[in-house]
Amino acid sequence: MSFQAPKGTFDWLPPRSERVLAVREALVAPLRLAGYGYVETPVFEDTELFKRGVGESTDVVSKEMYTFPDRAGRSLTLRPEGTASVVRAVLQHNLHTGQLPVKLWYSGSQFRYERAQKGRYRHFWQVGAEALGSEDPALDAELIVLGARGFASLGLRQVRLLVNSLGDKNCRPAYRAALQEFLRGLDLDEDTRARIEINPLRVLDDKRPEVQAQLTGAPLVVDHLCAACKSYHEEVRSLLTASGVAFEDDPRLVRGLDYYTRTTFEFVHGGLGSQSAVGGGGRYDGLSEMLGGPPLPSVGWALGVDRTYLAMEAEGLLDEAAPGRVQVYGVPLGDDARRRMFLLVSELREAGISADMAFGGKGLKGAMKGADRSGARFALILGERDLAAEAVQLKDLTTAEQTEVPLAQVADVLKGKVQ
Ligand code: AMP
Repeated sequence: MSFQAPKGTFDWLPPRSERVLAVREALVAPLRLAGYGYVETPVFEDTELFKRGVGESTDVVSKEMYTFPDRAGRSLTLRPEGTASVVRAVLQHNLHTGQLPVKLWYSGSQFRYERAQKGRYRHFWQVGAEALGSEDPALDAELIVLGARGFASLGLRQVRLLVNSLGDKNCRPAYRAALQEFLRGLDLDEDTRARIEINPLRVLDDKRPEVQAQLTGAPLVVDHLCAACKSYHEEVRSLLTASGVAFEDDPRLVRGLDYYTRTTFEFVHGGLGSQSAVGGGGRYDGLSEMLGGPPLPSVGWALGVDRTYLAMEAEGLLDEAAPGRVQVYGVPLGDDARRRMFLLVSELREAGISADMAFGGKGLKGAMKGADRSGARFALILGERDLAAEAVQLKDLTTAEQTEVPLAQVADVLKGKVQ
């Protein structure tokens, strides 16, 4: 074979591709019920948008972006995440001057030049939701509940929800300073030392055991929250409890950028090894201003569709055989029968019955093999003699029972059987 999909990417093929579409739909359904509207933004944006909107000190921006000049010399980047684009679209089209919060959802490809491994790809799918322009703990809780409902609706039982608060512009600076002071006293490499000065919260997120071991006594943001942040967080937590959504407080859960404030959360799955996050999000009250807009306190999340699929596999939720590709499969014998079958399958499709037929002039044996492979419950066998009698042989492929049905009645008869 001459070409392969690029490293870190893969193809979704039937029947898995159909199932992953259903997974995506299930993650979106709770959002629709809550009045979130669909937004589609370009797959590439001005590079500067992500530099500002994701942050230059993040790995995503400093190491993982697919950036290229277009023919006019503009620097463009394939989107590595959805939030910056959504905020850009809201500001550009003045949606924030209407009713608030603006509630939007999106779904699509994201691109990050990451070290590829199971569950971590260079091209992956997310479903995301953003609620912009409102500072209300009920909105944070709403989004978390909607994410949890999506996972639960797929039958997933091993998704854990971790929550934390990062404070706000009043209490975070003092915490940041306390954390920096603590971190400066540790035995860390050059790069990590530099990070302490730019983005100390990210150091807490360092997964290396030798770093984690030194972080045991690190000051925690929960111990530095101001009264307003504390009561906001309590309200989010009590709304989650009242909704019956189980969560765990994780005082070490962080997002490293200054415009992330207050609520932060992650959904993790126990069956995925090191790439355990199936979704995450939080409040980003400062992002609009970073992008040149007015203050627009907002909250959002992104769920990983590929990883959700892997989580379902890990829980054995995809074990049963995939449903058949079609319900009915046409087996025409001879040229005249083929022409008539072509019309018959069209007629069935118009009646809402999924139907396919043997192409390529196959004989009875080859065509029946096609019927089996299609997963169809019924085959329609049409020979010269049937044609003359204006009838077709309807074969139930599960029982091998065969009956003759007049051509004019096939759709009606099948409708009674396949629905
Ligand atoms: P993030 O935008 O990094 O907060 O990621 C949100 C979710 O997207 C994560 O919880 C993952 O489920 C998924 N995700 C992020 N990066 C990748 C990747 N490289 N490959 C597959 N899924 C990813």
